[in-house]
Amino acid sequence: MTPQKLPHVVIVGAGFGGLETAHRLANAPVRITLIDRQNYHLFQPLLYQIAIAGLVPSQIAYPVRTIFRRQKNLTFQMSEVTAIDFDARYIKMDGSVIAYDYLILAIGGQTNFLGMQSVEHNAFQLKNIESAVATRNHLLEMFEQASREADSDNRRALLTFVVAGGGPTGVETAGALAELITHVMTKDYPQMDLGEVRVILLEAGPNVMASYPNGLRKATHDLLRKKNVEIMVNAKLTDYNGKQITLSNNSQIQTHTLIWTAGIRAAELVEKLGIERAASSRVVTEATLQLPGHPEVFVIGDAAYFVNGNGQPLPMLATVAQQQAKAAVNNLRKILRDEKPEAFHYKDPGLLATIGRNAAVARIWGLSFSGFIAWAIWVVLHIYRLIGFRNRLVVLINWAWDYLFYDTQVRLITKE
Ligand SMILES: Cc1cc2nc3c(=O)[nH]c(=O)nc-3n(C[C@H](O)[C@H](O)[C@H](O)COP(=O)(O)OP(=O)(O)OC[C@H]3O[C@@H](n4cnc5c(N)ncnc54)[C@H](O)[C@@H]3O)c2cc1C
Repeated sequence: MTPQKLPHVVIVGAGFGGLETAHRLANAPVRITLIDRQNYHLFQPLLYQIAIAGLVPSQIAYPVRTIFRRQKNLTFQMSEVTAIDFDARYIKMDGSVIAYDYLILAIGGQTNFLGMQSVEHNAFQLKNIESAVATRNHLLEMFEQASREADSDNRRALLTFVVAGGGPTGVETAGALAELITHVMTKDYPQMDLGEVRVILLEAGPNVMASYPNGLRKATHDLLRKKNVEIMVNAKLTDYNGKQITLSNNSQIQTHTLIWTAGIRAAELVEKLGIERAASSRVVTEATLQLPGHPEVFVIGDAAYFVNGNGQPLPMLATVAQQQAKAAVNNLRKILRDEKPEAFHYKDPGLLATIGRNAAVARIWGLSFSGFIAWAIWVVLHIYRLIGFRNRLVVLINWAWDYLFYDTQVRLITKE
């Protein structure tokens, strides 16, 4: 068959789900168009390292065209998809249209501010390179401003850093931020009393790391406390005006910095598609990951609402997106062979989160543990999962340097 006659598979999104799908279709009898509004794949689990001045963006992002240089059945287009006609089977992007035979929607998520506009306008978020760099610039700027501030109340507000959301991202960010202050900023600002600094982790529920087993929750709590992170549980944030946080019990925290990690919902595009959505705006799929009524469309990753055997929706995790990509490709191949697609089953690979130097919590193969061994596994796994040998080497050298010399590489305040 000439390439033009092969079924056309369009993949929207070059994140974890989209990349895995494209790789797994490398030898399939299809031609692939991969579309993303960015020209790079972003390793989001390390975004917080950009925010705390540990890594530069190019170390956790990789150009899509380079990744697929050798994959002959794939072309890449950098475009924003703005609409999809599921009946006529075409998608619209930045003024052009493209027809498909099969469509994989792997468009990921966006920060969910839970309808609080004041938070959306004034808080920082960790979702893309721009927001992580803006957070880094702001954090460093707060130290500069505090070093010139004579009024102690104003200074304390400048030096109070609040992270909202006690899940893995919030915990990792708070722990890393506390370490940046203790190990690095104390050296950069020897004349300042950094005893005035507060790092506060706010969690609306009764526990941090709510999805983790009890023992790991306690270990996380203890490791954060050791790093001088103040943990406030049952602390529901209701407003933030850029200088003051208000909690549901009407208490207030004076701060110029709120990093919001307390919610994710499906990417904006899903709202324009006229399809059934569930919690967090995620698209409801069949057990086979197909879109109801459109067996030629698969929805995977953060954008998909897929209920697990225990009745709960699968979490928004890279591991879920990658496993769903594998299942969607298997089902697509089955359809091409006129076979029946199969239901997707998620295999939980365990949990892993770092809280800083020598400190992490893990549950792997049913075993829960914390401390140095969990941290070493975290380091090895994250370096291994980065794309590109050069990125792996540079990040490894960076982290080794920071570990040995209690330093971070990127303490630059840059203006956009
Ligand atoms: C700060 C942070 C830390 C995290 N830490 C972990 C962790 O430790 N472990 C873990 O397993 N998971 C972690 N996650 C979650 C993980 O990153 C996501 O679950 C995963 O990226 C989802 O993969 P995906 O393919 O669904 O979407 P993504 O990887 O988000 O990719 C979606 C892609 O679609 C593109 N896109 C979206 N809309 C359009 C459009 N309209 N047109 C064109 N392109 C579009 C985007 O540009 C993006 O490249 C973290 C996430 C964040 C934000």
